[in-house]
Amino acid sequence: MARSIAISHKSCLAALALCLVAAPAMAKEAPAADAPQTEVKPAAPKLIVAISVDQFSADLFAEYREHYTGGLARLLKGAVFPAGFQSHAATETCPGHSTLMTGAHPARTGIIANTWVDLSAARAEKKVYCVEDESKPESSTAKPFVSSVHLKVPTLGEWAKKQWPASRNVAVSTKDRAVVMMGGHQIDAAFWYDRGAYTSFVGAPLPPEVLKLNDGLKALLAKGAPAMAVPAWCAARDRAVQAGSVTVGTGRFVLDPKGKVKPADQLRVSPRADAATLDLAASLLTSMKLGKGTAPDILSVSLSANDYVGHAYGTEGLEMCIQQHELDQKLGAFFAKLDASGVDYAVMLSADHGGIDLPERLREQGVPEAGRGDAALSGEVLGRAIAAELGITKPLPSCNPGPDVAGNIVCSDGVGGDYWISPQLTPEERAKVSEKLVARLKAHPQVEAVFTADEIAATPYPHGHPQDWSLIQRARASFDPTRSGQVYAALKRAIIAMPKAGPGYVTTHGSIWDYDRRVPMIFWRKGMKGMEQPQPVETVDIAPTLAALIGLKVPEGAFDGRCLDVDGGPADTCR
Ligand code: ZN
Repeated sequence: MARSIAISHKSCLAALALCLVAAPAMAKEAPAADAPQTEVKPAAPKLIVAISVDQFSADLFAEYREHYTGGLARLLKGAVFPAGFQSHAATETCPGHSTLMTGAHPARTGIIANTWVDLSAARAEKKVYCVEDESKPESSTAKPFVSSVHLKVPTLGEWAKKQWPASRNVAVSTKDRAVVMMGGHQIDAAFWYDRGAYTSFVGAPLPPEVLKLNDGLKALLAKGAPAMAVPAWCAARDRAVQAGSVTVGTGRFVLDPKGKVKPADQLRVSPRADAATLDLAASLLTSMKLGKGTAPDILSVSLSANDYVGHAYGTEGLEMCIQQHELDQKLGAFFAKLDASGVDYAVMLSADHGGIDLPERLREQGVPEAGRGDAALSGEVLGRAIAAELGITKPLPSCNPGPDVAGNIVCSDGVGGDYWISPQLTPEERAKVSEKLVARLKAHPQVEAVFTADEIAATPYPHGHPQDWSLIQRARASFDPTRSGQVYAALKRAIIAMPKAGPGYVTTHGSIWDYDRRVPMIFWRKGMKGMEQPQPVETVDIAPTLAALIGLKVPEGAFDGRCLDVDGGPADTCR
């Protein structure tokens, strides 16, 4: 079972160069059915629209669902699972998106974080971005050469192409990592937002509809836009809260071409980003005639504004209220375009991870234990203290290379999470550093639990209800022995892994706790019976469910999740 996946991954990687070169020749129309086709399931939808709303926590869904009147209100009439779990510990965008269309936990997708550390890397920069090909000399985490090379399993769209060569696999988002993780290695059309315009893989020319959208964005960024309307039910959230030097809670998303923040970033951190991504998805629907070929097509859409707004303003202010309203309305308009196309489509909507408000407002609203992670918990700071204690003075690569930066024996990506110990140390030194690191982390009042890579690796792959998983089981689900750190530390509940608030960034996710793990999972198709199932399910159940819906056969063991019967009646989706 595992073998068949390994083989298909290998063949996919071998085909990668071809995929990227093939991308420019984007299929404009449904290809002729000259390739041998496996029979399509009768009455199966012709188009799967898989939507990820970045940082759409189950808590946000619960808080706002009574106010939805647009696209989300329509989805509420489908099969609603309010307690979907991104079951793993590393609740970040790249790992989370990697589960949605692969049906596999990050431990198997290989996407253990947005950014990990590889101290043995040949290049000076030791951090690796999840969707960069760091073997390209021009690639860096700041300006990545975007690639799927790190994704270790196929996506639903790739499985569909294997069964039905005429099937198209399309992915759009504001974020490159969402596009690559939902689309995978073989994407027929892939676009993401980069500094004011939608772009694609290196060498893939932009089709007319993308150029037109970019012209429109350019004009909008030059002209600006007024404050967004505030729905009456958002008024109670219109209250300022101070986080360090930053005031949040009252923002209305004025787009100011002369503002301090670049207009392209103002747009990105606003509901206008989702509007642009949905416009792009709708134009591809038309130009590529998605859902009108001989095989089911897969359209993945990841909407990032919710995440950027959450990071910049928190989850309980006016800004998120406007964002939720706009998301609902823009989805409604998008579904209306899908209806007008006449295509029989099915929608899945979920999220890559949850989120939590900024600690300053949490403390004002009944969570006194909320706080910011101590900067002293960074790998670099801990490593320097341990090096002094152990008398290690040998020259080593630095976590963050640059002039006048000393080498590090320990690196991390912020506070808490994975800690990488320098492979240039001797095994004895590494063992001593690990021991000291574990002791220092365990002694810190903000740390809940500390595990070594050996302890995590020895933990059986978790199954069963994800809300009942122990902390080490959660860590196991996003552990990859070739990429994960040698030590993992979970911060205490409501301790935000962000020592300091700054403009555009006041809170974050990524924790082992359920506020970051729980997301809604919704399936909708015209005419389906509605149902709500509050029992916990997992985002790795999405791919097997969608596969069953379109009659897609994958090798046994390809998915960590299970098919969910979303029919709502005696007919069984999974049979
Ligand atoms: Zn995210």
